[in-house]
Amino acid sequence: MATRREEITNYLKGSERTVRELAGLMRMRVKDTLDDLEHIRKSHKKAFKVRPALCPSCGYVFETRGKLSSPGRCPQCRGERVVGPWLSIETDD
Ligand SMILES: [Zn+2]
Repeated sequence: MATRREEITNYLKGSERTVRELAGLMRMRVKDTLDDLEHIRKSHKKAFKVRPALCPSCGYVFETRGKLSSPGRCPQCRGERVVGPWLSIETDD
């Protein structure tokens, strides 16, 4: 029986997921999912990848934002339909 964090880790191996998606898959609150993700990121270090969030309306990319949660709105166009960031864990194969 996998632990909760192992289960999240499995979802991240080889596929990109947003925090919201993971929370849905795990039936967890977003806040609790973020806590687990911070631990998972620490234990996987370089294998843990974060593809930055972006604003589909104007193309703004949240490059410098190291956070795992979704930004509320775009600083450039004020759009609220920000997507990502997408998280994943690289595997050896
Ligand atoms: Zn924008």
